[in-house]
Amino acid sequence: MPRRRMKQKFSRLLSNLHFSLTLRIAIHFARQLLNTTFFMLVTVTLILIIAQVPTVNQTLDALGAIKPDLPRQYSAEQMRGLAATNAYLLEEPLPSTLKGFIAKIKLAFARFAPAQTPYVQIYADSPEGPLVAVFSLEYWLQVYTLLFWALLCLDLYRAVYFLRYRNRLNKKVLKPIADMAAAAAALSANNLSNRFSIEGTKNELKDLASVINQMLDRIERSYNSQKQFVSDASHELRTPIAVIQGYASMLERWGKTDKAVLDESISAISQETTGMKELVERLLFLARHDKKTLMLEMEVFDPTEVMSSVHRDAKLLSVAHHFELQLLGNAIIRGDKGMLKQLMRILVDNAIKYTPAGGHITLAMGAEGENCILSVSDTGEGISSEELPRIFDRFYRSDQARQVQSSGHGLGLSIARIIVVAHGGTLNVRSKIGVGSTFSVRLPISREARG
Ligand code: ADP
Repeated sequence: MPRRRMKQKFSRLLSNLHFSLTLRIAIHFARQLLNTTFFMLVTVTLILIIAQVPTVNQTLDALGAIKPDLPRQYSAEQMRGLAATNAYLLEEPLPSTLKGFIAKIKLAFARFAPAQTPYVQIYADSPEGPLVAVFSLEYWLQVYTLLFWALLCLDLYRAVYFLRYRNRLNKKVLKPIADMAAAAAALSANNLSNRFSIEGTKNELKDLASVINQMLDRIERSYNSQKQFVSDASHELRTPIAVIQGYASMLERWGKTDKAVLDESISAISQETTGMKELVERLLFLARHDKKTLMLEMEVFDPTEVMSSVHRDAKLLSVAHHFELQLLGNAIIRGDKGMLKQLMRILVDNAIKYTPAGGHITLAMGAEGENCILSVSDTGEGISSEELPRIFDRFYRSDQARQVQSSGHGLGLSIARIIVVAHGGTLNVRSKIGVGSTFSVRLPISREARG
């Protein structure tokens, strides 16, 4: 089986075993160490060989300069002080194949040297003739053996240490994860404010903790706004229910005999139920939007039609205001006609509500570049710059609005904005206290119409 496949099989086997994280880390490091031990030994060998070159050359030069005492063999006396163990003069000349320094080095076992000792034979030409010098590797072998066992023992010690103290190490290594698990376990719908501590955790865990914290921030914000929504909605529904309850008990006591009480109660109950119906419809619209089940029936049409119809209805809604419709340009848009009508009605209703009797309300339609602009301007009370950023929030009503207008729940503009955004447009407002307000809807002109 090829080595790579065996390696893959081994890795798969390891990953299938349910080792603890610390043990996995230990095994990983042990394997790494074995790999590096091998490379370290090769590197050390190369360095040693290179370091020995000058000494070997010196030895060969020294041997060439002296004549052997014994027949063809240098005596122990002559070898003293030299790096080589033995040296011999050869009878025949060096074979022509032995070219270059490396070719002249031979690693061999016990031919000229003591038995079982590895040695290096180096051939060289000298003034005395071709010679071979024998360098024993016994010392280096001992050094290598020592080094190898030292590294192996260290590795084994580490593996045993990991095995023996794995529970303690697991706890220590996995402490940040355990802390995070404990913090996560303490989270509940009523306690979403717990955050993971980032200080103690390092690197990847720090990133993980801060990503989870950001996610919790988002969940908490959304959960709080849902909670706020439910509480605001119940609050809005409580008032009309209380009013209806009041009139019902009035009817029960005096309604059967007093015609005036009867008429007043019927009209009040009818007014409150209309308001409640509108509120419930708006709440359902927002719920559909939040659940992402809001459906748009898109069609390509000229908004002039919508503007004229809203203008017509507005005149019926209030006789106390002056209405004007300005058609300043042509544009064809793609959108849900019913929803755009609802959007314009919200803006016109507000203009009527917040503009004193006798004021002017202008509906305008125009085109600007790639956009169609639909706007509603009034000469009403205006909105202060502090309030402007908040008027699109759900259930937001200015104090002034609450005093002047009892009708309304602060949901109109948030619905208006949802409709505009769903059409890929923008809703802007310009307003000045005491002068009036202009709400402008910018919608993209339909490409289909532009051809
Ligand atoms: P509602 O009208 O039911 O209170 P909206 O969401 O439609 O709720 O409007 C939010 C607030 O914005 C209003 O309470 C009012 O303070 C302000 N507002 C909206 N339209 C106008 C306007 N045309 N002129 C002055 N203030 C306005």
